[in-house]
Amino acid sequence: MAAEVLSAGGVAVTLYERMPSVGRKLLIAGRGGLNLSHSEPFDRFAARYGAAAALLKPALVAFPLSDLVAWAEGLGQETFVGSSGRVFPKSMKASPLLRAWLRRLTARGVVIKTRLEWRGWDAENALVFQSGANVVRDTGDIVVLALGGASWPKLGSNGAWRKTVVARGIDVKPFRPSNCGFVVDWSDVFRSRFEGEPLKGIELSFDGKTVRGEALITRAGIEGGAVYALSAPLRDAIEAQGHARLHVDLRPELSEAEIAGRLERQRSDQSAANALRKALAMPPVQINLLREVLGKALEGGATLARQIKHLEIELRAVQPIDRAISSAGGVALDAVDADFMIRGLPGTYAVGEMLDWEAPTGGYLLHATLATAVTAARAALLRLS
Ligand SMILES: Cc1cc2nc3c(=O)[nH]c(=O)nc-3n(C[C@H](O)[C@H](O)[C@H](O)COP(=O)(O)OP(=O)(O)OC[C@H]3O[C@@H](n4cnc5c(N)ncnc54)[C@H](O)[C@@H]3O)c2cc1C
Repeated sequence: MAAEVLSAGGVAVTLYERMPSVGRKLLIAGRGGLNLSHSEPFDRFAARYGAAAALLKPALVAFPLSDLVAWAEGLGQETFVGSSGRVFPKSMKASPLLRAWLRRLTARGVVIKTRLEWRGWDAENALVFQSGANVVRDTGDIVVLALGGASWPKLGSNGAWRKTVVARGIDVKPFRPSNCGFVVDWSDVFRSRFEGEPLKGIELSFDGKTVRGEALITRAGIEGGAVYALSAPLRDAIEAQGHARLHVDLRPELSEAEIAGRLERQRSDQSAANALRKALAMPPVQINLLREVLGKALEGGATLARQIKHLEIELRAVQPIDRAISSAGGVALDAVDADFMIRGLPGTYAVGEMLDWEAPTGGYLLHATLATAVTAARAALLRLS
């Protein structure tokens, strides 16, 4: 996006990428439909960035949803707002957008050099890139670093740049998983039977925050949209105390009394599992989750109703960063100015996920990534002029 704005402003741009092709993480994001942004009111939208909202807000104002939609549509990708308020391209893919974008950048003269990893600066302050034994040096009036975070390193963003940037005296916070899964000690029986099964329409709560949505039972534990939304406070709690208890409501649309009433109306000679199936249409994964977590045979009536509304899953660890959707950590927010220019490095900007901010899934990651690049590139154009 920085290359887009700078080249549109008439600047000669060279884009270096360590992988054989660019935009690999964007393409993976496309597998989930490419959630570009969210249509909720701006104040709620900006609040999703937590402590980073103050720094990011001006960039989000300068590149609002309408501009993001116009950019996607300019690349032939009409967008729509899903029932959850999330914004997607109608194609629900990243590849047509990326193809059109690369065509446009190339037509504007942007030179894309792949398989070259940025390794830092040499004694003359030139940028040093390396591919095996091949070392390339380059200088620019403007440098935009957009090196990503440290999740899914096989897609290119491995966070290896952190050492180089720290050595230059810039504060870079350690990377931590964000929008990540958690480790649960499932029994072998539960794991082998229910790995890959979704828990639909549930409500998760932790530390005063409640999210309705879906979670997924995995080999290692639990992940999915609703879990990701609580992942920052869960991660912080596990880092501080070694564990966290995730509160689960399996039937958020019913009160405890309504559930108890429905269970009481069932025949008393049938098993609790049968009663749950008939009274609440509860799928096997949920019935067995109750058994798994409670560690005993299910009782009926009011006790069971309470357990359905107040199940607590013990999370033992955070899943590794290479499986997380995004990462927290990166260039400290006070190491950059309001235009994302690195303090003490005039003309060098840091944008996107490599900055120390985090946000839930829902389009917030891509929108802020693009917005920070737009702001930095517009500031760079002013600086050049
Ligand atoms: C599975 C998955 C699904 C996602 N879905 C969504 C979604 O639907 N909506 C959303 O908003 N977000 C989503 N995200 C997150 C989103 O893709 C990222 O936040 C976003 O791509 C960050 O953009 P970026 O340009 O900052 O970094 P990246 O996209 O990671 O790009 C950084 C680039 O820099 C290159 N690079 C790194 N180091 C060097 C170096 N030393 N030298 C040269 N090149 C280097 C990397 O190879 C990479 O190509 C998803 C992420 C994952 C993993």
